[in-house]
Amino acid sequence: MFPGLFHATPRGHLQPMPLRSRMLSIATVLLVFAIVATSVFGFAHVTAQQEALTTLREESQRLRSLQQAVVEADGRVMHIIAGDGAPGDYFDRLPVLVGGSAGALDQLGTIPVPGTAAPRPARQLLSGLTGTWTEAVSLVAAGDRDAAAALLVRRGTTGSVAALTGVVDRILAGADSSLRVHEERIRFGSLLVLVLQLSGGVLALLGLVFAFRSSVSEADGRAAAVLAADTAREQVARLFEMADVLQSAGDHLDVNAVLKAAAGELLPGLSGALYIFNNSRDRLVLSTSWARPEGEQLDETIGPASCWALKRGKPQLNRPDGSKLCCTHHSGPETVLEIPMIARGEIVGLLQLFASGAEAEARLERVANLGSALADGMSLALANMALREKLRNQALRDPLTGLYNRRYMEDSLQRFVRLAERENREISLLMIDLDHFKRLNDQHGHAFGDQVLRDSALALLAGLRETDIVCRFGGEELVVILPDCALERAADKAEMLRLAIQELGGTRGAEISASFGVACVPHTSQSVPDLLAAADAALYRAKQNGRNQVATAPLRGFRVDRPEPTPSAEISAFHRVAAE
Ligand code: GH3
Ligand code: MG
Ligand code: MG
Repeated sequence: MFPGLFHATPRGHLQPMPLRSRMLSIATVLLVFAIVATSVFGFAHVTAQQEALTTLREESQRLRSLQQAVVEADGRVMHIIAGDGAPGDYFDRLPVLVGGSAGALDQLGTIPVPGTAAPRPARQLLSGLTGTWTEAVSLVAAGDRDAAAALLVRRGTTGSVAALTGVVDRILAGADSSLRVHEERIRFGSLLVLVLQLSGGVLALLGLVFAFRSSVSEADGRAAAVLAADTAREQVARLFEMADVLQSAGDHLDVNAVLKAAAGELLPGLSGALYIFNNSRDRLVLSTSWARPEGEQLDETIGPASCWALKRGKPQLNRPDGSKLCCTHHSGPETVLEIPMIARGEIVGLLQLFASGAEAEARLERVANLGSALADGMSLALANMALREKLRNQALRDPLTGLYNRRYMEDSLQRFVRLAERENREISLLMIDLDHFKRLNDQHGHAFGDQVLRDSALALLAGLRETDIVCRFGGEELVVILPDCALERAADKAEMLRLAIQELGGTRGAEISASFGVACVPHTSQSVPDLLAAADAALYRAKQNGRNQVATAPLRGFRVDRPEPTPSAEISAFHRVAAE
């Protein structure tokens, strides 16, 4: 519609041109219009002037011819009267004088003649003159020269000729100045047209150059826009791909691997780090880092109170000189963009992007949006993982003590026993029952009993390795699995734990103790039911022998009072006895 005022975007949509180009286009169009109009006007003006000049020249020429013919005729008549010529000389010229003077006479109008009252029309004056001259020449032909001369004097022909030629001279003088004016106008008009045509040519040339340059820069801009759109499309595709892969991430190691791969592709040349909140949410722990320079150590933890990105919930740029707003945990020679990772309104971690050198700040600002998109994708995955962890904990842990539940204990015991058998390793099991717990509840209340259970769980956890598994078997009964632990060491550990539980009584102001049964694969048992039953039987003995003590299952082949193993350890000797 208006090709000069619109341009096509890389997607093919028509968009208005920028204001500067639009104004330039409009100005160029107006200027070209003005030049064409002025050229046409100048051309018409010059043509009109030329026509007027031609007419003026023709009229002057006619007047000059008339003047010349009149003067010539007057001279000839004089010569004929003086006897210096034949009458034919006059009669030969007469048709020329009469015929050629018609147009010129209309121009002359009326002519004042000396000796006459009113000016006479030029046509009348000329016909009077020719009449007189004809009469005079006829008198000469008749031999009366004097009469002819007297006739001329009487009729005043010399005065009439002088009046007529004088008027012609005046008119010619006026025509000459008009001619000069017209010639001047023609010169000016031609010059104007020439200047306009030249400037039109120059403008057209400039327009061409400008159009070429803008089409080149537009093409460059379009190519850059296409490239930017392609890059953005690829980045979005990569982010989607990352989000998709994160769905299958099982743990933080998976998340770290995905983040490192995505950051390497999306943010080349930048190093980074990921911090994640610990379980108690009192500090962020370094989860992974990538492309870090040799020897540059990162803080293992960051306190949330020292980080503006976490406090404000917005990206924060920390400069090497610590200028402007800067996190107190920030140090080192790099510029760092810190992006909080927020999912479902809660901060789950912190993404750090590092750059150094003069362009560091500008580079980080350029990737800020992409970094935020990356952090968003990651934070949702981290939040989902935390949720999954929470749900798994809910399914696997006992809500009162936070220990693993019985189902988890049975599953992992199966796994450990199989592993111990295959790899010829030892695995021990402690079965623990709090002594006289019913009495404790009755004396101090159920809430107190709950607290003693929690304290006992903590005492067990504090005294064991991280790889040991502590479970609540049910009621006030607890089980500990000790991988890679022989019977003797397990008994020692049980003794230590027994003392730790006994010490709880001092702090709680009540008599607290527990009895322990210890068994081991392969020394006392062969299978899971076997192991559980052996530990249960040992516990039974500990109870029988007066409680608050550790009893060890007999070594295989020396078992005396071990009950027959049952498919499930739920029905056990101790339980049967305890139920009695
Ligand atoms: P023993 O020394 O022979 O083991 O005596 P006991 O009283 O500990 O044994 P018993 O099996 O007779 O009683 C177990 C008591 O533990 C009964 C029950 O009220 C209490 N108990 C079980 N689970 C909980 C719990 O979650 N919280 C509290 N407060 N008490 C519990
Ligand atoms: Mg008990
Ligand atoms: Mg019990």
